[in-house]
Amino acid sequence: AFEGLSDRLQSAMGTVSGKGKITEADLKQMMREVRLALLEADVNFKVVKKFVKTVNERALGANVLESLSPAQQVVKIVNEELTELMGGEQAPFNFSPKPPTVVMMVGLQGAGKTTTAGKLAKFMHKNEHKRPLLIAADVYRPAAIDQLQTLGEQLNYPVFSMGTDADPVEIARQGIERAKIDGRDLVIIDTAGRLHVDDQLMAELQNIKEVANPQEILLVVDSMTGQDAVNVAETFNERLDISGVVLTKLDGDTRGGAALSIRSVTGKPIKFTGQGEKLEDFEIFYPERMASRILGMGDIMTLIEKAQQDFDEEKAQEMADKIKANTFDFNDFLDQLDQVNKMGPLEDIIKMIPGLNKMAGLDQLKVDPKDTARMKAIVLSMTNEERENPEILSQQRRKRIAKGSARPLAEVNRLIKQFNESKKMMNQLSNGNMRGLENMMGA
Ligand code: GDP
Ligand code: MG
Repeated sequence: AFEGLSDRLQSAMGTVSGKGKITEADLKQMMREVRLALLEADVNFKVVKKFVKTVNERALGANVLESLSPAQQVVKIVNEELTELMGGEQAPFNFSPKPPTVVMMVGLQGAGKTTTAGKLAKFMHKNEHKRPLLIAADVYRPAAIDQLQTLGEQLNYPVFSMGTDADPVEIARQGIERAKIDGRDLVIIDTAGRLHVDDQLMAELQNIKEVANPQEILLVVDSMTGQDAVNVAETFNERLDISGVVLTKLDGDTRGGAALSIRSVTGKPIKFTGQGEKLEDFEIFYPERMASRILGMGDIMTLIEKAQQDFDEEKAQEMADKIKANTFDFNDFLDQLDQVNKMGPLEDIIKMIPGLNKMAGLDQLKVDPKDTARMKAIVLSMTNEERENPEILSQQRRKRIAKGSARPLAEVNRLIKQFNESKKMMNQLSNGNMRGLENMMGA
């Protein structure tokens, strides 16, 4: 999702990011492009206006343009404001101190309520050890009950239903009673939707709310519907005082407008996202990660989380220190190759590394595990002195290494060049104004 927005914002950032100095005219040009990018992504125009104003004020204030790294500062401001726009902090899920926790899924027909009810149940079981019970309160379409029942069977959770003739309010009431009797500590009520917001539906939902007393009323919104999603959210919020939003279908080619406007317009946080039809295509929404993803700064947190699963923490700290002190050498590079090999397909990793993913063509790079084996062969043919002091790698030494590793000289040169470039990049990243690598590594 968000490819168009992402490309346009990154190209807008590109108008300043290569420059040592930025003039007010540069900034103006950049902000014009940012504004257009957001409008084209279907972000609410009031939201765009406010966003541009805030970024401008911050960029023009506090001597940002006169600072040592104005471009980085400006990108940082855009990133922070984008994060703020989407809610700033990740919004926690409310559990009831006295079980069961009751959740109402609401939204228009086809938004993904029923699917999301199943996803959420699975997520909460897996991560919070909850014992869910699903309530089928969409009585207008028999297929809706079947759909929930199928999900329940698949997941092995009970589904409470009273057929299509019962009153949804009564179904909710009795369903919650059943959960209490059976010791189910999470109740998810799947409600009916309509194609458009209508009074009768809203009244019914309000009545369900009254008897169910939910800790969470999650509005399920189809992100593909753009601006409309925001209007829908406003109406649902006025009538039901929702507690949060689930943004579905982020796997499609949504332009991003809903994701960027909903929080700002309704004041209610996006709590989860759906990015596929499968039950595991469901994530907690982190505004900061989404902002970084949109700005092509890589999904650092996801990378770090993945890395932490396999990385040795001491190693990571050591590496961060070395990068910072600029003493990262070919021995560390070898270590890193081994670590990366442990982490799985390299292209997945590269996609998440800030900067690297958008470097000329690298985002299309397919990394062959054979390549890492070749790189390793080259580094292993270096003497320890050469690995520790890459600057002594003269043409003569390089020739010897090429011979020793049975790789072409051009490949040796390329590797050394790449090493130097990425070292420089990592160092800038770590010592620059972007969040330091040290930070990212959780140190
Ligand atoms: P409801 O009417 O609000 O209950 O919507 P459903 O849960 O029945 O979903 C409507 C359609 O959207 C179904 O075909 C789902 O498989 C699909 N769907 C739901 N969430 C997602 C998602 O995150 N990504 C994709 N691609 N499809 C989704
Ligand atoms: Mg449904």
